[in-house]
Amino acid sequence: MNVDELYLDLHEHPELSFEETRTAAIAAAELRAAGFEVIEHIGRTGVVGVLRNGDGPTVLLRADMDALPVVEDTGLTYASSTPGVMHACGHDVHVACLIGAAHQLARTRAEWGGTVVALFQPAEEVGNGAQAMLDDGLYEKVPVPDVVLGQHVGPAPAGLLGAHAGPAYASADSLDITVHGRGGHGSRPETTIDPIVIAAAIVGRLQTIVAREVAPQEVSVVTVGRLNAGSKNNIIPESAELGLSVRAYSEEVRQRLLGSIERIARAEAAASDAQPPTIELAESFPVTVNDVAATERTMAAFRSAFGERAVVDPGQVSGSEDVGLLATAAKAPLVYWILGGAHPETYLAAASAGTLDRDIPSNHSSKFAPEIQPTLDRGVAALVTAAREWLRAAAPAATATPAPQLEQ
Ligand code: ZN
Ligand code: ZN
Repeated sequence: MNVDELYLDLHEHPELSFEETRTAAIAAAELRAAGFEVIEHIGRTGVVGVLRNGDGPTVLLRADMDALPVVEDTGLTYASSTPGVMHACGHDVHVACLIGAAHQLARTRAEWGGTVVALFQPAEEVGNGAQAMLDDGLYEKVPVPDVVLGQHVGPAPAGLLGAHAGPAYASADSLDITVHGRGGHGSRPETTIDPIVIAAAIVGRLQTIVAREVAPQEVSVVTVGRLNAGSKNNIIPESAELGLSVRAYSEEVRQRLLGSIERIARAEAAASDAQPPTIELAESFPVTVNDVAATERTMAAFRSAFGERAVVDPGQVSGSEDVGLLATAAKAPLVYWILGGAHPETYLAAASAGTLDRDIPSNHSSKFAPEIQPTLDRGVAALVTAAREWLRAAAPAATATPAPQLEQ
């Protein structure tokens, strides 16, 4: 098994959320080849491998598998062969690295004790793959971990590792609001309840939540990214729709934002004598919180394995993740780090020119193309180093084989 070749193959064959059947089959076959016990179809396409190696802690390593509906524009020889689908978030890197790490941990099992759980998760991009695995009885099927570890490739110099202790990734909630009015002729507004006016008032008033209801020290976002209503200039429509994206770094602020949005939407509808609006939560990611002590311990292991300069604190990241659900459900600490994947010299040149935004494609870009090396080697080594930090340091006595005696 060659991790580089595996990566090229995965990149060329991306699969959308909950459709990762080919990727899952590859992960299952590789896990079996490495000597893991394998359970497939947890949360539809999820795959988990378990390697029991005597007494010691249980360590869960997680990789997400899904790709995005993006038309690839990298020009790579191994670009997507599936039109309109691309590994634009680098989950192919995560899968390849976890398969490499599984093989390495299996090969070196004489050096450690405990249980490794290698988890390949579907549908991270739509925010419900981790929950689907939990709902499907994940922790009745596999050992409950003592720590949950994982990584995400991103636009930092290739091989660089970084984790922020505490709240590290924002929560993200996607809300659909439908305002119910009463339609009619544009010349006779007195016979109608105009949902466009209500929607406009809601959009305006929503701007006061972050500005007036959240402390300036708290970072949060309420964006109305979609507003749809009407079909013709002289018709007052029956309804209007708003699509919102909401982000926060603490559960308290998140609940405040969601509560305020509902209050404002209902109040604006009431102000126009309309029926209460329909509010639906379309996608939801919790705040991703890295356990402080566990993160410090894991980053210290990275520093001693890879050097001080290979490890940074990237601060809070505005993207979102569902990996935290796997840790929360297990009541285990989470350590989730960033793995740099950008060409180091190009990155440094762009950083000094102040053109990082323009020159370094970010995740979800049609030009996102991680450097294969040293990214993959470092990604495998990071998973193995982190796992070994938490596993028992020596082989279990019961299964250790005595050194062979030389015959004289
Ligand atoms: Zn993504
Ligand atoms: Zn991602």
